[in-house]
Amino acid sequence: DKPDAPAENVQTGEETEQQEDKNLPDDGSSRSVAVPEKLIDQVIGQDHAVEVIRKAAIQRRHVMMIGTPGTGKSMLAKAMAELLPKEEMQDILAYPNSDDQNEPIIRTVKSGRGKEIVTAHKNEAKKKIQFRNTLIMILMIGIIGYAFITYQWLMGIIAAAFIFMALRYATPREEQMVPKLLVTNDKTATAPFVDATGTHAGALLGDVRHDPFQSGGLETPSHDRVEAGAIHRAHKGVLFIDEINTLGLPSQQSLLTAMQEGEFSITGQSERSSGAMVRTEPVPCDFVMVAAGNLDAVEGMHPALRSRIRGNGYEIYMEDTMPDTAENREKFIRFIAQEIKNDGMIPHFDKSAIDEVIHEAKRRSNRKGYLTLKLRDIGGLIRVAGDLARQESAELTTRRHVIDAKKTARSIEDQISAQMIKRTREYELAVIDGTEIGRVNGLAVMGSDAGSVLPIMAAITPAQGDGGEIIATGLLKEIAQESIKNVGAILKRFTGKDIRNIDIHIQFIGTYQGVEGDSASVTVATAAISALESIPVRQDIAMTGSLSVRGDVLPVGGVTYKIEAAARAGIRTVLIPKANLGDVLIEDEFLSSIEIIPVEKIDEVLKIALVPDNREVFLDKLKSIAWSTTQKILNTE
Ligand code: ADP
Repeated sequence: DKPDAPAENVQTGEETEQQEDKNLPDDGSSRSVAVPEKLIDQVIGQDHAVEVIRKAAIQRRHVMMIGTPGTGKSMLAKAMAELLPKEEMQDILAYPNSDDQNEPIIRTVKSGRGKEIVTAHKNEAKKKIQFRNTLIMILMIGIIGYAFITYQWLMGIIAAAFIFMALRYATPREEQMVPKLLVTNDKTATAPFVDATGTHAGALLGDVRHDPFQSGGLETPSHDRVEAGAIHRAHKGVLFIDEINTLGLPSQQSLLTAMQEGEFSITGQSERSSGAMVRTEPVPCDFVMVAAGNLDAVEGMHPALRSRIRGNGYEIYMEDTMPDTAENREKFIRFIAQEIKNDGMIPHFDKSAIDEVIHEAKRRSNRKGYLTLKLRDIGGLIRVAGDLARQESAELTTRRHVIDAKKTARSIEDQISAQMIKRTREYELAVIDGTEIGRVNGLAVMGSDAGSVLPIMAAITPAQGDGGEIIATGLLKEIAQESIKNVGAILKRFTGKDIRNIDIHIQFIGTYQGVEGDSASVTVATAAISALESIPVRQDIAMTGSLSVRGDVLPVGGVTYKIEAAARAGIRTVLIPKANLGDVLIEDEFLSSIEIIPVEKIDEVLKIALVPDNREVFLDKLKSIAWSTTQKILNTE
């Protein structure tokens, strides 16, 4: 048996490591960054969550964490298990019940004792069996000897067969009485952390295996077929369930019962198996639950379960980004060092590589002056860059490795969009020069980092129904549909044309995944105005932006990725909302090939995008119309 390691050893780890690091010169690389030993101290950017988890661990409260994947939810749950007291941990044993063999007896003992008890029982059984076997052997030799002496062969054979059968069946009987260790904990380890994400009922709540023999001396005793569930293994520790809404309602109901009672009998989960007849005494499952998910999870959750957590614990909304301050940068660098240490194989990052990762974190935050906290993805990037460096046997990972890694570690959406851009160029579907009436290059973003050029066409037809309708196609979702209505207000106000006798058709091209959000409003308005006024639009320009009903260009998401997609498609000018200017962090390779023009009003967009010939006339008209419409409205009021 292993000797118990003194608990202090765990705490001193941090010190030793820092001492090691002191010998190294501080060259700005991740080598000289100390990594805290405790998981809770390794979490960055989620200060509120960390504080709540610390509190919840002391009070043993349940927690629900809602937020984007990869922001540290399971990490925090694991950290919570580290914070729970380990003195309270227990082992759980199942014993045969001689009164009712379908109801195995459950006993708990101090952690570490379980193994000892089972070993003791096994030794006892072994001794008993040995004693019996010796007895039987002596008997057998006696009988065979007697048969030999007295020439009674037949009797000898029968007796030997009888004794052999006795041996064959007597052995398991003894072993059947040995208790089964359902849950075992190391004396020195931290409280258990059990991840029950995506488990079926049996794995979550425990199960009793089917016994194909059931009788005739070959059966496995029922207590031996009992299997603990995740809820039992998490006894005195943390039960973590991500995507809680995907758990079936009956399972959520059982989970709730388990949480309320602190114990839950194990029974066979498949109805027809012999396991379903067995039901153990209640098995303790006094766990702290950490449920996680994205916002949908809240809706898909059993209301009673949610209210149990709310009434008896905390709800946390995770942060997606953190401000780009000196302090947070330091934390980010520590995160890089952490990931490298946890990986254990990849070389440390030099200053240039660290800067590049931080630059990428800024880009991915999609927000001016912020760093992304979707750290699982950043961790992936760090590992790919490190692997590249390792392949080259480089001593340190450098900026070049990170840049190469970005090309390899692209998201599925980004790869799809790159392929789409390539294909549309091959088929010459993309129009990137010349002018056209009613066609505008819009920009969209798929997933979180895949930009694409999204052409929008507008055409005017004589009214079919009541007239004056704006019809938009291209799998538009709710907000996109509403944005079209708002564009209608702009058209009425700015063109002054009587649109009662016409319908305006707006088509989003190639949006097989649907259109979400209102970031195409500026594009739609420009296309519609171009079609209405028969003014051609420059095709070497792409644009993105939301619109207020008064014609202000409002900020949108994903501008960096949109601009890059435009540049990749060969477009030379991009119009973006002025408010988004600070969010732009495009890669160096695109800097020289694309001009970015910030705009505040739809008039500015029209001035740039519409072809000069008829434009001036229209713009003049626009001014007077806008003025007179406003006057008219005011007068009628
Ligand atoms: P989630 O459960 O929210 O999907 P995880 O906790 O599984 O995310 O995060 C995956 C990995 O990403 C972690 O193991 C850790 O390496 C890194 N990570 C995520 N969030 C953080 C954070 N806030 N601080 C430090 N590392 C993080």
